[in-house]
Amino acid sequence: PAGGSLILEISEARKQFGGLVAVKDMTFEIHAGEIVGLIGPNGAGKSTMFNLVTGVLPASSGEIRFLGERIDQLGARRIVKMGIGRSFQHVHLVPQLSVLENVAMGAHLRGRSSPLSAALRMDRHEEAQLLFLAAEQIRRVGLGDYMHTPAGSLALGQQRILEIARALCTDPVLLLLDEPAAGLRLKEKEALADLIRQLKDEGMSVLLVEHDMDFVMGLTDRLVVMEFGSKIAEGLPTEIQNNEAVLAAYLGG
Ligand code: ADP
Ligand code: MG
Repeated sequence: PAGGSLILEISEARKQFGGLVAVKDMTFEIHAGEIVGLIGPNGAGKSTMFNLVTGVLPASSGEIRFLGERIDQLGARRIVKMGIGRSFQHVHLVPQLSVLENVAMGAHLRGRSSPLSAALRMDRHEEAQLLFLAAEQIRRVGLGDYMHTPAGSLALGQQRILEIARALCTDPVLLLLDEPAAGLRLKEKEALADLIRQLKDEGMSVLLVEHDMDFVMGLTDRLVVMEFGSKIAEGLPTEIQNNEAVLAAYLGG
């Protein structure tokens, strides 16, 4: 069992889209410094679960607590400020802007009510602070050599890591990643896994939503498996690997 204190507590979370129940009665926890993988076949409800935790969608019922506080009906902006960082499944970078500009811009827009008010209210001092913060996170993820490189000329794996640097600017306690390894080559997946391990060593908790079983196997402390909106298994990666219900879900999907 995980020893750290409770970071995220999901109790009987449910999300309905009209007649479709995308997430039903999901219950699991994340402790401090843990990397938890949320896996399952396509359509299982992983991204919906991710959207409930990040506040993109309100839960239909059930409770989600972060550091003891209810967050299941809060908006995305509030949740980011409380300490849950996220990256996006599809890379939202401005290809012609530099790595530094992309991270600074992402960090800035995140804390503001709208891009327009952000642009109007930013002064030189604020801009300098922002660039300093962004540069710090870029070095943290190992992209220090690419500070002034246009984001669009980075390899896909580096762009994913850049997205993580952006998420780190909000100083999260818990980081949520939705299919960060999708489309990456083996070497890029290894670099991404190394970064996630480094963040864990720095005290971060991580919820990793992944379809790719191989990627999560060597990386996560614990796996939660979903199928048709429900949790069908939970345990150590080595236990899950041989779980019959999980194998059937993957083969059947
Ligand atoms: P996964 O990420 O595991 O592939 P999703 O959470 O994206 O699964 O989807 C779970 C189910 O919910 C699917 O049947 C999907 O079509 C449905 N779904 C997801 N988002 C919406 C939405 N905004 N409106 C209606 N149905 C949705
Ligand atoms: Mg998904």
